[in-house]
Amino acid sequence: MGTERKTESEFLRVKCNDCENEQVVFDHASTSVKCNVCGSTLVEPGGGKAEIKSNIIEVLE
Ligand SMILES: [Zn+2]
Repeated sequence: MGTERKTESEFLRVKCNDCENEQVVFDHASTSVKCNVCGSTLVEPGGGKAEIKSNIIEVLE
C-alpha cells in the first residue's frame, strides 16, 4: 500500500537455452545481455528488473 519496496540488485548465474553456456548476468541490466557463445538473448531490460530469458541456475549475492 504505497510502500516502496527496495529492489536489491542481484547477479544471477544463468544457462543459455540454446547452447547451455553458463554465464553470470546482472538482473537489473539496462541493456540486453547476449550469450557469449551463440549470441542468443539471455536478459532483456524491463521496467527496473530485467527479464530473464534463460534458465536461472543460481542467485549470487
Ligand atoms: Zn548460447
